[in-house]
Amino acid sequence: MPAHQTPLIATIAAGLVLAYIIGLIAHRLRIQPLVGYLLAGVMVGPFTPGFVADQALASELAEIGVILLMFGVGLHFSLKDLMAVARVAVPGALLEISAATLLGGGLAWLMGWGLAAAVVFGLALSVASTAVVVRGLQERRMLETERGRIIVGWLVVEDLAMVVALVLLPALAGMAGGHGPALSHQAVLTTLGITLAKVAGFIIFMLVAGRRIIPWLMHYTAHTGSRELFRLAVYATALGIAFVAAHFFEASFALGAFVAGIVLGETKLSQRATEEAMPLRDAFGVLFFVSVGMLFNPAILLARPLAVLGTIAVIMLAKTAVVYGALRLFGYRRTTSLSVAARLGLIGEFSFILIGLGVALGLVPPAARDLVLAGAILSILLNPVLVSLADGVVEVKARVLAAVGRGPVVPAPLPEPVAEPEPAPEPEVVAPTPTSLSGHDIVVGHGRVGSLVTAGLLAAGRPVLVIEDRSEAREAARLAGAEVIDGNAATPAALALANLAGAQRLFVTIPESFEAGQVVMQARAANPGLEILARAHSDACYEHLENMGSNLTILGEREIAHRMLERARQDEVAELVKAE
Ligand code: AMP
Repeated sequence: MPAHQTPLIATIAAGLVLAYIIGLIAHRLRIQPLVGYLLAGVMVGPFTPGFVADQALASELAEIGVILLMFGVGLHFSLKDLMAVARVAVPGALLEISAATLLGGGLAWLMGWGLAAAVVFGLALSVASTAVVVRGLQERRMLETERGRIIVGWLVVEDLAMVVALVLLPALAGMAGGHGPALSHQAVLTTLGITLAKVAGFIIFMLVAGRRIIPWLMHYTAHTGSRELFRLAVYATALGIAFVAAHFFEASFALGAFVAGIVLGETKLSQRATEEAMPLRDAFGVLFFVSVGMLFNPAILLARPLAVLGTIAVIMLAKTAVVYGALRLFGYRRTTSLSVAARLGLIGEFSFILIGLGVALGLVPPAARDLVLAGAILSILLNPVLVSLADGVVEVKARVLAAVGRGPVVPAPLPEPVAEPEPAPEPEVVAPTPTSLSGHDIVVGHGRVGSLVTAGLLAAGRPVLVIEDRSEAREAARLAGAEVIDGNAATPAALALANLAGAQRLFVTIPESFEAGQVVMQARAANPGLEILARAHSDACYEHLENMGSNLTILGEREIAHRMLERARQDEVAELVKAE
């Protein structure tokens, strides 16, 4: 059968094969594979010679990637988490969207476009790419950190705002001189009301009915013992609910999948569901980048270099600055604010949809679409640089503080327990007081690992100090009988309260290797004789922690293998004894 008769297969095959080959080359050259995927997209796109894949199909395939991605994020998220970050994410994201729209609109105005074009163009520059941001968070195991939660909350608000924009745009187009009927104000308001009611209806439906049916179905399926059926249940839930959300409730696919994930995440099966969703998610995630690459017309870089530069500046610099400012206003530390802001400094899928609709409605000139696409592809490529600069600033700051004697990287004696020299503390921190313990054990994190360590130490009669940034976990640690410090252990401020110089041992039980490394490095500098034990998840992470100064680094997966072998050996000995 010729390729033009099977466009779906041709698109998937060409996308995956080219992404694989160029991704591999990128890896060899020590460039991120993502760059390879984008390039593969440009190659199968309509603006370069040779085979041209089906653009509409490619973007639908990409949407599946986004659905699975957001479903996975939902699995890790609880409603409580969402409520906790809503306080900052809702006003913060709205402020950021308004500012970015104004700035992007200003740029459009400079280019001589009308008001409607300016607003649509500005809006398109204001939303970050969920797909790219979440992937980055997953790679760095940041989804479950405070920063990760703020970012996801932020993305959800942006997503909702875009749902509203996409619905309102056609309704407003007539008024703004584009295609479509000139509706009255009242008709527009009615459209808005109906949309919001539908989205709210979807969420209520999921929380009331979905919350009962989905976990029950999953348990039932799990008990059949069929892995295949369980896998099917996971995919059916993710895609089915996303489709229902988009088709019947006017919500986005991503939002639907996210809510489905949250509902399923409340059950004990969520870990298994995550594992099952992973392989397909990664494959479609790659197709997402290919489809972005396909839309890109490189000619725009030569035709309008200044406009491209301006667009990038709004996306990466102005937006980052606004997010940073908003978070600082809410009392977050500079380090947290910078890290979150940098990660949101890019645009993606929603921007394409919005600008595409704007062009179709005759509201914006086609050049706007090329600029948004160029802005997206360049910001996706350059964002990792921005992020590592931001993280670098965080690290440099720690060193500078140390150099001037206020930070933790000074060898013993321990620096005075000063608060971090920042005007605004983390919102939930209440008047931190340094510990009076000495000869104690410090446990960083009170989750699955830390709570067991703390319980064991307390049972052995050791004085234990727990550092934890999640309020429920702190409460649990207090109940268990430990002294508790509230805060992010990777920050000098939290560590300064822990009397590192007087401590006997430090257990770093948090899963995120970057933060764990920060803790180990600062602790080692503050107390060269301290016994440090740390938790790792990969060989790279193991090495990192050892380099930072950990005495015993435990790689969870290796330990599991050891225990299994131990058991096998015991069985063998038992057999031998029986045989004798
Ligand atoms: P688990 O992976 O279940 O052992 O949980 C890890 C625990 O460590 C969770 O309770 C987190 O809230 C906590 N945690 C993670 N990162 C930090 C950090 N940088 N500072 C303090 N606590 C943390």
